[in-house]
Amino acid sequence: MPRRRQRLRLCFPANLQHYGEIEMDENLKGVAGAIKGLAIPELRKDPIVGRWVIIATERAKRPVSQKQEPFPESSSCPFCAGNEKETPHEIIAYRSRGSRQDEPGWRVRVVPNKYPALQIEGDLNKRGDGIYDRMNGIGAHEVILECPFHETSLANLTEDNIREILWVYRDRLVDLKKDPRLVYGMVFKNVGAAAGASLEHSHSQLIVTPIVPINVWEEMTGAMEFYNYRGRCIYCDMIYQEASASKRIVMETPHFIAFCPYASRFPFETWILPKVHNSHFENIQKIEVDDLGTVMKTVLMKLEICLERPAYNYIIHTSPFDTQSLPHYHWHIEVIPRLTRVAGFEWGTGFYINPVPPEQAASMLRDTAVDVSGGRTA
Ligand SMILES: [Zn+2]
Ligand SMILES: [Zn+2]
Ligand SMILES: [Zn+2]
Repeated sequence: MPRRRQRLRLCFPANLQHYGEIEMDENLKGVAGAIKGLAIPELRKDPIVGRWVIIATERAKRPVSQKQEPFPESSSCPFCAGNEKETPHEIIAYRSRGSRQDEPGWRVRVVPNKYPALQIEGDLNKRGDGIYDRMNGIGAHEVILECPFHETSLANLTEDNIREILWVYRDRLVDLKKDPRLVYGMVFKNVGAAAGASLEHSHSQLIVTPIVPINVWEEMTGAMEFYNYRGRCIYCDMIYQEASASKRIVMETPHFIAFCPYASRFPFETWILPKVHNSHFENIQKIEVDDLGTVMKTVLMKLEICLERPAYNYIIHTSPFDTQSLPHYHWHIEVIPRLTRVAGFEWGTGFYINPVPPEQAASMLRDTAVDVSGGRTA
C-alpha cells in the first residue's frame, strides 16, 4: 500500500495497539514532576511513515492504580455514585426521573476525562515546523462510567445495563459528529493494569480525533482494495465463510457473529460483527442493540471464566464521521485479552507471535458455558 497517498493519520502514544493508555505509568511517575506542561496537547506527525502522535503532558499527572493494593473502596472511588464531585461535570447521564445532574440516581454517566489526551476548545491551527507537521491537540476525551456501584467487570452487569452503555456510545458519537473539526470517534475499554486501566471501576472511554487513526485507515484501505476487485465487502464475505466453516465461531445470534479471526494477532482475540452490512456503529438499530447486549455479556463472561479474568481491551472500529454509508467497510468490535506482552520483535517488525491457534481458542470459548440471565443492576 503506497503510504504517500494516505491522508493524515494518527496513533496514540507509546502503545503499539493504539488503545490510548500509556503502559509505563509507574515508571513515568518518577519524572512526572519534572515534565514542563504544554499549554494544550499537540499532534505531531512522523514525516517518514505518516504516523501522528499526541503529546499530552496532562496525562503524566493522572493517578496510577497500585497493583499490590486491594481495590479502592467505593468511598474513595471517583466513579462511584455519591462521588460525582470527584469528576468534571457530566456531559450526559441516563438517570432516574427526578434525580439531578452530578448527583446520584444515574445508571450510566459520561464525563470529560480529568486528564485528557486532547482538549475540546480551540482551533486546529495546522502548521509546519521545518520538515515536520503539527497541529493543536483538539478533540474529545470522555469517560463512560458504566454503573453507579463499585463493580469492576462489565460482564457482571445485566444485559439491559450493557444495552444502555451501547446506547450511550451511540449518543456520544452522534453528538460529536456534528463538530466539523473532528473526524473520528474511537470507543475503547481497558480492563486491568496490563491493559492500561488506571481505575478499576467498570468504565470505557471515547477519544475523538481530528485525524483518522492509522489502524482504521489501514483496514479501510485494505477493505477498499478488496471491494474494488470483487465488488463485495470483505467483512461480509468473512462472516459468510466463518459461519459456514464454524470452527472459529465463538457464538452466533440472529444479528451478530463472534469469532476468533483467522489471522488472530493475540491468543483468544475475538471479533464481533453485525451480520447486516453497516459501516457506521452510530447507525445501529434497536433490535441490534438488544442482541449486542447479550453477545457482549456472553463473550466477556466466556473470556473471564476461560482465562480467569484476564486484562483485556475492546475497541469499536467504525467509519470516519465525514463519510456516508460505505459499501466496503463494516463496523466491528475487537476484543483483545492481554495475555502476551508485545516485545521487541513485534515493535520492530509489526509481526505478532500468537501461541494459541484461533480454532482452539474458539473451541474453548464455545465450550465455556455461561448463564447471562443475572447481573448487578442499579
Ligand atoms: Zn467505584
Ligand atoms: Zn459488510
Ligand atoms: Zn478492526
